[in-house]
Amino acid sequence: MTETNAFQMVVSRIDAICDKLKVKDAYRLRLEKCERELTVNFPVRMDDGTVKVFTGFRVQHNDTRGPTKGGIRYHPDVTLDETRALAALMTLKSAVVNIPYGGAKGAVACDPRVMSQNELERLTRRYTSEISILIGPERDIPAPDVGTNPQVMAWIMDTYSMLKGYSVLSVVTGKPIGIGGSKGRLSATGCGCVIIARLVAQHLGIGLEGATVAVQGFGNVGSVVARLLAGEGCKVIGISDVNGGIYSAKGLDVDSVFAHCQETDSVVDYKVAEAITNAELLALECDILVPAAMEDQIVKANTADIKARIIVEGANAPTTPEADEILSDNGVFVVPDILANAGGVVVSYFEWVQGLQAFFWSEDEVNHQLQTAMGNAFGEVLEMSQSEKVDMRNAAYMLAIKRIVDAMEARGIFP
Ligand code: NAD
Repeated sequence: MTETNAFQMVVSRIDAICDKLKVKDAYRLRLEKCERELTVNFPVRMDDGTVKVFTGFRVQHNDTRGPTKGGIRYHPDVTLDETRALAALMTLKSAVVNIPYGGAKGAVACDPRVMSQNELERLTRRYTSEISILIGPERDIPAPDVGTNPQVMAWIMDTYSMLKGYSVLSVVTGKPIGIGGSKGRLSATGCGCVIIARLVAQHLGIGLEGATVAVQGFGNVGSVVARLLAGEGCKVIGISDVNGGIYSAKGLDVDSVFAHCQETDSVVDYKVAEAITNAELLALECDILVPAAMEDQIVKANTADIKARIIVEGANAPTTPEADEILSDNGVFVVPDILANAGGVVVSYFEWVQGLQAFFWSEDEVNHQLQTAMGNAFGEVLEMSQSEKVDMRNAAYMLAIKRIVDAMEARGIFP
């Protein structure tokens, strides 16, 4: 984290909104701390016979509105502080889209790109058994995040079920469909971003047909956003990943970039485009910029370079508070992470409900319900932004904190 530490950044935003809403200290203090934090150090036998000790975390930020919910990240640079920040964002996100969850996050410091499938399976199973004292379908439900996928969720579900002695479908979401996953979950976060992009375009009176788009990150979220926006008639002029970016003024053939990426594991070296850096991608002249990679990409130092009219935050925390102020002064319409990328947690909620009821929906039903949930949340945040004369991030935080504080009050935790 560059400009300040990650959790402090979320807390300072929460603090500012609590001031504005005149939230009582008793409630504010709870939101500024995480309820439970577990650090685990555990051994994994590697394929060459050596044993490595990995460090992982599971953090539950707040469970006032329901069981905690949040992804598991496999990345070499994860820290407890970052995990706390992402858990707090999950509490806020669940409240913005009004689903009955609190927020959590998990992480293991490892590099899945250099590990074999067998090593990843052993790591996942041991991590699951370490955090099994916290997770459960009524307590805390993990899901995929950076570096994890449906296969990892299947291993978690299987390990947890082995510990219990029976199959527990609803302990994770983002599972393969054959073991209780939901139709539409894999593409849900990207799909939600595109629903939001459509609503913003309508609000600002811009047609999506021919609108220019740049997408940073071409993983689960970024690749779906790029493909769906191209399907809406947008011109996707830039795409990047951790290795670099590609640009075409005429618009990239996103399906062909996707096929190239499947083959080579990266968008770079895609032949029908110019090579650009990630910094150049963020500075492209375009209508819509979708950061869908990692935190802290739009910071004070590079905000002046941003020329996009609309930013839809597919990633969590891609913009620092300092950068936010500059974007706001420059009239950029920013849809914050806790609204823009909430499609994933919404369909995770649908998956959890389907698992608990053992009754599964069609893909049309999932997408219809997702459209409704995202449309309602966008409408409520926009209304708050207009009535309170604040930007969309402040409005989303206000809506979320109001809902969480109302729930604390209703529960009578501080009579
Ligand atoms: P992923 O691992 O599938 O893909 C990440 C992509 O970002 C890859 O293309 C990778 O190469 C690229 N990347 C990594 N570091 C980069 C860097 N420094 N510069 C440029 N590109 C970089 O992850 P994902 O699931 O697509 O998640 C992306 C973001 O969206 C994260 O912030 C995540 O927390 C957030 N998010 C994901 C979900 C979900 O359902 N997967 C839901 C909500 C939010």
